[in-house]
Amino acid sequence: TAEKETMGFQTEAKQLLKLMIHSLYSNKEIFLRELISNASDAADKLRFESLEAPELLEEDPDLKITVVTNKDTKTITITDNGIGMSKDEVIQNLGTIARSGTAEYLKNLTGDKKKDAQLIGQFGVGFYSAFIVADRVEVFTRRAGLPANEAVHWESTGEADFSIEPVERAERGTQVVLHLRDDSLDFADDWRVRSVIKKYSDHISLPVMMYKSQSEEEIKEGALPEFETINEAKALWVRNRTEVKDEEYIEFYKHISHDFNEPLTWSHNKVEGKLEYASLLYIPEKAPFDMWNRDANRGVKLYVQRTFIMDEAEQFLPLYLRFVKGVVDSNDLSLNVSREILQKDPNVDSMKSALTKRVLDMLEKLAKKDTEKYQTFWKTFGQVLKEGPAEDFANREKIAKLLRFATSHDNKAEQTHSLDDYIARMKEGQKEIFYVVGESHAMASNSPHLEVFRKKGIEVLLLSDRVDDWLMNQLGEYDGKQLKDVGRGELDLGELDAEEDKKQKEKLAKEHKDLVERVQGILEGKVQEVRVTNRLTDSPACLVVGDYDIGMQMKRILEQAGQ
Ligand code: ADP
Ligand code: MG
Repeated sequence: TAEKETMGFQTEAKQLLKLMIHSLYSNKEIFLRELISNASDAADKLRFESLEAPELLEEDPDLKITVVTNKDTKTITITDNGIGMSKDEVIQNLGTIARSGTAEYLKNLTGDKKKDAQLIGQFGVGFYSAFIVADRVEVFTRRAGLPANEAVHWESTGEADFSIEPVERAERGTQVVLHLRDDSLDFADDWRVRSVIKKYSDHISLPVMMYKSQSEEEIKEGALPEFETINEAKALWVRNRTEVKDEEYIEFYKHISHDFNEPLTWSHNKVEGKLEYASLLYIPEKAPFDMWNRDANRGVKLYVQRTFIMDEAEQFLPLYLRFVKGVVDSNDLSLNVSREILQKDPNVDSMKSALTKRVLDMLEKLAKKDTEKYQTFWKTFGQVLKEGPAEDFANREKIAKLLRFATSHDNKAEQTHSLDDYIARMKEGQKEIFYVVGESHAMASNSPHLEVFRKKGIEVLLLSDRVDDWLMNQLGEYDGKQLKDVGRGELDLGELDAEEDKKQKEKLAKEHKDLVERVQGILEGKVQEVRVTNRLTDSPACLVVGDYDIGMQMKRILEQAGQ
């Protein structure tokens, strides 16, 4: 038979391990959450695979997780009868970090414990968190369907390498044995562990079991200890909203999102009627490390009648809501649904539009209820939401309501004003929403185009994000008011222009006819037209883009793209 082999961790894995142990030290107990979370995922995967191959359940169909502590051996052992791992899977899953962009991301780590803990949190803590409390970790695992003699024993001290050897194992699934460090022996204490698990795993839908404590009598009689279930063990999204505590929602979020931080807000709904489904959707507080990576994971976890079907089901939400995490559980889809089928199923389309509305409503509610949290959301995901009006024409008014801008009202760079705020401050007789686009906030707010608006006390949105020009073109109007670029075309302030201003402009145009013609001659071929304006109060001249030309910002984006 094959022998024990020693292998090195992948560089990134080694780095992460080291940093994890140091920076998450003050929050040791999270290792339990991570290992139970993995065991639960393993059960989900087995249930899913057994839909097509029931024999994988062997003689052991009741999926569960057990946790056993032992003060004598100074260990805590977490066992599941889920999917298990083959030798290759063990090497891949417990020896490397496969996610793309990892190496890039790890360069951001600073050595400052607090900051790094935050960064690692965004990355996802995972299996390696076992080494926060253990100086040696053993994994015994057999993949469902493989014979008992193809089980694997993995072992490591969490430094440079790990060993792997074949073993016999009758039980299917995975057992993780943590040999506790001297400073973490509290995790060999049954009561301590019990309370942590209660805190972290009520939302886990399969039973998490520990030994029942025995009476003196039972111990005297030498009775064998029995297991008892210590969590709620029911899919959280199936429960009634009123029964679920906030802490449970938060823990569930951490489980499904692999995010270390709490979510900003969530929305839990059960829909009955023509289509029956439950959804639980979350808005994260922090962006995942790979949000701007095109192949980054996105989408919800899909269940059909409580059975896990797939992660990252992208068909249930539009791309501009890709930051949303959550679960959808449908009663109408078939258990053998695939990504291809999802794409064609009209039921999925109706669910998508309902879920999109839910998310937009949730954001609107958050904006009303908690401006500070909404600002956090906007700073992190505002740029993504700005893709919305182009992708989702039907909801563009709803999305527009959620946008936030910097404006000349206070000239601050921070984007805090909604279009509704702007409208509430509009001048008597003002019919349009004015905006100016600049390469930076400073450039926008110092634009000569603003001079006349400042003079008249008319507010202008100060736009400087790359997508802004394009966004405004997509939107076109809001609440029946046109969005007007003040750096474009002839400026007609309509009723906002006093009669005398108009007369003054006509008079000037007449007086300076010769000058205008001369300048026009000199700039022949460089500009389309030279004209007298009432735009400016201090600057002598400015450049204006035609009404139907591409904006300056768009032009630059296209130039950068080599067009
Ligand atoms: P994540 O859970 O985010 O994928 P982890 O570091 O927690 O990352 O786990 C890495 C991988 O190891 C998992 O994706 C899974 O494939 C495998 N794994 C971990 N624990 C188990 C387990 N108990 N049973 C089966 N596979 C597991
Ligand atoms: Mg995990």
